[in-house]
Formats: sequence, structure tokens, C-alpha cells
Amino acid sequence: MTSPFDLSGRTALVTGSSRGIGRALARGLADAGATLVLHGRDPERAEEARREFATAYGEDRAYAVAFDVTDAESVQAGVREAEEKAGPLAILVNNAGIQHRVPLFDLDPTDWDRVIRTDLTSAFLVGREAARGMAARGGGKIINICSVQTDLARPSIGAYTAAKGGLRNLTRAMTAEWAGSGLQINGIAPGYIHTEMTQNLVDDPEFNSWILSRTPARRWGTVEDIAGPVVWLASSASDFVNGQTIFVDGGMTVVV
Ligand code: NDP
Repeated sequence: MTSPFDLSGRTALVTGSSRGIGRALARGLADAGATLVLHGRDPERAEEARREFATAYGEDRAYAVAFDVTDAESVQAGVREAEEKAGPLAILVNNAGIQHRVPLFDLDPTDWDRVIRTDLTSAFLVGREAARGMAARGGGKIINICSVQTDLARPSIGAYTAAKGGLRNLTRAMTAEWAGSGLQINGIAPGYIHTEMTQNLVDDPEFNSWILSRTPARRWGTVEDIAGPVVWLASSASDFVNGQTIFVDGGMTVVV
């Protein structure tokens, strides 16, 4: 009997999988059998990720595309290129994102726009482009990578907090419109994960000890911690889960 977690024969695009959390999510999906489209803004980094996956899983299960997730025309061309190379998308993980740590009083509106476009508008643009094909084929899985900032607010990260909160509600809005076409759209909200994005926070002794005291699990998350829940949401084991955002944060959001 085939496992409900088996993703063989399904093609997945993970945005921002040239490094960090996205790369680990792509690895988890590939381990479960999926064919991967690796993605980043920088074509060389995306291609470098593709080479690693081709060596591990085979040339016919690893492809790369590079496009800017904030630009509607690039997204349209990029999703088309992904499907021409790897076949129709069954799974999309909207993971690409940025952080910009500046207090709201000092935040340049251009930086506000850049964060909102990268962390929220991108999921609308890439999600809609992928969902058109998924709906026509009668199904697909979209997973939006949110954050504990979806639910919690801290100083100096206002645009990111607004974007990630919006992403949780976009997950619900997509569900309201597309679940009837056989799509499942859910969110994963990671806690603090050690990646390039957070290296400066790991290196800051005060912030580091705040994280360790604030997280019931008493540690930073690893990129692998996020992969299992994403594989589950991408698989048929979660077929009746719709519009939810699941916090994978070592318990951070359940304590005050
Ligand atoms: P990284 O900074 O390590 O990686 C970001 C990825 O996104 C890279 O692949 C980058 O591509 C891509 N990217 C960024 N902007 C664009 C763009 N405009 N167009 C295309 N690709 C882009 O981030 P993390 O792995 O740490 O984070 C991944 C996701 O997880 C983000 O959405 C983040 O908000 C979220 N998250 C992270 C947490 C953490 O603690 N690290 C906690 C909670 C959520 P390239 O390499 O080409 O620049």
C-alpha cells in the first residue's frame, strides 16, 4: 500500500529554496518522492541548489528557475518556465521572504513597500499563477510560510509583522475562493530558526538569551524542524486541512 505521505510523481516549486529554510523544505519534499523546482532571485544560487538535488535525487527530479517574486510579469514567466521544465505543479511553497529591522518612526516607505511586496504580495502573485493550473487540473497544495510574527508583535519589525499577519489571512482568503476547486491552502508559522536571515540575532548575546528563555523548547529551531510539517501539508495525509496556519515554534506562541 502506498503511504499517504508519498509524493512520487508530484512536482513542487519552493520559492526561496536556493538557501535557508526553503532549501530544507525542498529536501524534505524530495525525500518524500517529489520532483523539485528550486528557486531564488539569483540564478547562480538556484542552479547550485539544483546541482546538489540532481546528484542526490537524479537529473529528472531537479530543476531550477530564477525570478523576482515581487514582479507580476517575472512571476508569470517564471511559473510558466517551471512547468515547462518540470511538469504541472501539484505543490507550491511560498517561502521567499526578507526581513528589515527598523522602528516604524524611522521606516522609509520604500522599505515598507519592499517588505510587503516580498513577504505578502509575492504569495498572491505566485499563488494565483500556480493555482490557475491546479484548479484546472482539479487539485493542488499551497503552503504559505508565515512566522510567529503572524501572531506576535515586537518592536522594530513592523512591516514584516504586518506582511506575515496578512499572509495568514491571505491563506484563509485563498481557501475561501479555491478550496472548492480541490486546492488546499495552509500556512506554517516557524519560530526563530537559525539561517542567514537570523545570523545577526544568533550572534547577539542579549537576543540569543531572550530567545532561549522565551521558547519553552529552550532552543532555536533548525531548518529541518520546518520540513516535516510542510511535507505533511503537501501530502494527501492532510487532505481535509484547509485554511489553517500551524505554529512550529517550540511553544513560543503559547506562553506569555
Ligand atoms: P533566507 O534569507 O536564508 O533565504 C531567503 C530566500 O528567499 C532566498 O532563497 C532568496 O533568494 C529568496 N528571496 C528573497 N527575496 C526574493 C525575491 N524578491 N525574489 C525571489 N526570491 C527571493 O531566509 P530564511 O530561510 O531564513 O527564511 C525563509 C522564509 O521563512 C521567509 O519567508 C521568512 O520570513 C520565513 N521565516 C524565517 C524565520 C527564521 O527565523 N529564519 C522565522 C519565521 C519565518 P536569493 O538567494 O536569490 O537571494
